[in-house]
Order: sequence, then structure tokens, then C-alpha cells
Amino acid sequence: MKVIDHIRNAKDTLISFEILPPLKGKGIEALYDHLDPLMEYKPAFINVTYHRSEHIFKKNPDGSFKKVVVRKRPGTESICAAIMNKYNVDTVPHLICGGFSVNETEDALINLNYLGIDNVLVLRGDAAKNETAFIPQADGHAYAIDLLKQVADLNNGIYLEEDLKNSQKTDFCIGVAAYPEKHFEAPNMETDMAYLKAKVDAGADYIVTQMFFDNSKFYAFVDACRKAGITVPIIPGLKPVYTLKQLNVLPKTFHIDLPTDLSKEMMKCKTNEDVERVGTEWLLMQSKDLKKNGVPVLHYYTLGRPQIISNVVKEL
Ligand code: FAD
Repeated sequence: MKVIDHIRNAKDTLISFEILPPLKGKGIEALYDHLDPLMEYKPAFINVTYHRSEHIFKKNPDGSFKKVVVRKRPGTESICAAIMNKYNVDTVPHLICGGFSVNETEDALINLNYLGIDNVLVLRGDAAKNETAFIPQADGHAYAIDLLKQVADLNNGIYLEEDLKNSQKTDFCIGVAAYPEKHFEAPNMETDMAYLKAKVDAGADYIVTQMFFDNSKFYAFVDACRKAGITVPIIPGLKPVYTLKQLNVLPKTFHIDLPTDLSKEMMKCKTNEDVERVGTEWLLMQSKDLKKNGVPVLHYYTLGRPQIISNVVKEL
């Protein structure tokens, strides 16, 4: 079932989770162990991230180096299908522009359609580790909107090959990403908002946000979206903080702020358990407030400590 239909049919705020595919070489069992305790909260859907391939240098026996291309976390599409079969829950594979040609994207979409997956979250992806800025694949997409248009075209039976026009249509529900604190590359909020509006006008059914730790920023963002004429559901992305290191890592990695009250409280903690308790209480406070304010879905990034998510959702 489509995410948008889950939202339309819901009588209350829904729960959803986001997971990463396992590192290459690891079995899917660890993923099931991660998800098993969370399934009692009946998530409406589960997102599975996509990870671009990277160029790395491997040392040859003679001491020279060779460049190889590796994808550390492959398998997004099949993991979605496996989770759907095991737990009877809808899944949302992420699709990215980075590292993919338009033909590979079309094949991925056809695969997802065969697997009975109704949803995709379309993203640009970040720069590869060895690049300072995002460089699109020569025959790939530069922005999420270009990828979105390809999905929308396929939904209308328009394939890349001209002579396949009006062939089998897909019917994907399309989500896009947004940033309550602005995407780090955008010169200002207005420009970022204009590009977000363009994604929605091109066919995005809903929006999922980057994590944030200050709900007032989310509410201000939703207001700005509505003023800009964006009417689709906006799903808040939520993540727990559970180590002191994250106070520096999260802002650097995700270009977000941590509220002073949260960082002060965490820095007072004497033990790791205390840090985790403060992070859990903060996430619970955020979740309760968002639910009270009628958000359609609480979307939790579960990487790291699923137990914290479980403790929070239990209290809602
Ligand atoms: P876009 O919408 O393309 O925007 C990127 C930047 O370009 C923005 O600054 C925007 O303002 C600007 N822009 C947009 N359109 C245009 C245009 N036409 N012309 C000029 N400028 C434009 N990354 C992964 O690699 N895998 C994942 O699974 C993944 N999941 C994510 C899930 C969520 C909910 C979020 C919020 C992010 C996720 N990311 C993921 C990270 C994401 O790929 C990066 O944040 C990336 O830098 C931007 O992606 P986007 O889809 O928002 O890009």
C-alpha cells in the first residue's frame, strides 16, 4: 500500500522506521534482530536507505595501488522485499541519483515493481567520499527532481526507450526529502523552498524531513511550506542522541543545530547511561509534542539504538 494511502486512512499519527542495509558480507539476520522488537509498534511502513558505490584504493602485492569501486551496503531493493514478506509491512526503498545511470534507475524501478513495492523516496544523494561536491554520473541525474520526473514518467508508461512508450505503467507513490534547517548547499531558505516546491509540483506525494531537535524549527518550516503553496503531508524525521560524541558529529554530518538545553543537559551527565537517558527523554518530549500537533507520521531513524526508539514509542 502507498504511504499516501496510509496517511489518508489513518485516524491518528502513524509510526514509521528507517533502517540501513547491512554491510556487505553480513547476513540479514542482524537486521531482523534490529527490527523484531520494533514491530510490535506496527509501523505503517519501513524505509530502507540506498548507498552509492565508492572508489577506494586497494594495495596490490607489489605495493602499487589499484582503484576499485565498492558498494558497502548493497541490497536495498531485495531487503525491502524480504522485510515486506517477513513482517507483512510496506516498505519504502530510497533511490538516489549519485552513481546511477538513468538506465540503471529504470531497471531498479522495474525490479521494484516486480517485487510489489508501491513506494520510493527519491533523493539526489551526497557527494562521494573522494569528492568535495556532488558530481552527477555522466548519464545520470543531477538533482532529485530529475529522478522524480523519471519515476513520474514511468508511472505514465513512458520508458527511456521511445518505442516502449505507453507500455506497462508503474504506480509508485513518491516521497522527497526536505530540510527544516535548510539544505547545506542552498544559498538561503527561499531558494531551497522553491526547489522543494518544484519537486512537489513535479509529482511528489509527500515530504520527509531531515532530523531536527527543536520542534519549533519544524513548525516554522511547515508554515513556510504552506505559505509557499506546498500542500502535501510533511513527515518529521526523528533521531535519538545517545552519546556525547554526537553533539559534534550530528551538526557536522547533517548540518543541523542541537538546542542549547539539550547539549547542556547532556554535558552535565556523569555516565553513558545518563547521556542515553537524557537523549531518550528529549526524543520522547519531541515525539509527544509533534503527535499533539497532529503530524501525520513520526518517522524514526533507528540506526544505532533501536531500544531507545522502542522505549519512546511505547510511551506515546
Ligand atoms: P535535491 O532536492 O536535489 O537538492 C539538493 C540541493 O540542490 C539543495 O541545496 C537544493 O536546494 C538544490 N537544488 C534542487 N534542485 C535544484 C535545481 N533544479 N537546480 C539547482 N539547485 C537545485 N542520501 C543517500 O545517499 N541515501 C539515502 O538513502 C538517503 N536518505 C535520505 C533520507 C532523508 C529523509 C533525507 C532528508 C536525506 C537522505 N539522504 C540520503 C541524504 C540526501 O541524499 C542529501 O541530503 C543530498 O545532499 C540532497 O538530497 P535531496 O534529495 O534533498 O536533493
